[in-house]
Amino acid sequence: MTEYGLFSDEGCFEAQMYSVEEAEVRRAEYIAEGEEPEDVVIKEMCPDHEGESRADCPECWSESAEDDE
Ligand SMILES: [Zn+2]
Repeated sequence: MTEYGLFSDEGCFEAQMYSVEEAEVRRAEYIAEGEEPEDVVIKEMCPDHEGESRADCPECWSESAEDDE
C-alpha cells in the first residue's frame, strides 16, 4: 500500500494517508486554515523510512551510495 504525506519546507508534518484523494482533502483543509498552498505539498512516502518522501529520502540515498563502494 502506498503511503502519502504532506510536506512543507521543514519536511513531513502529516503522513499515513493511503490515497492521493485522502491527501488532497487534508491539504485543502490546511490551506483553508491559512497555510500557503505552496507550503503544503503531497508526496509519496518512503516505504522504508518514516517521515521521508520516496523521491528524496536521505536514508535511501545514503544506503545506495554505500552499495556503490
Ligand atoms: Zn528511505
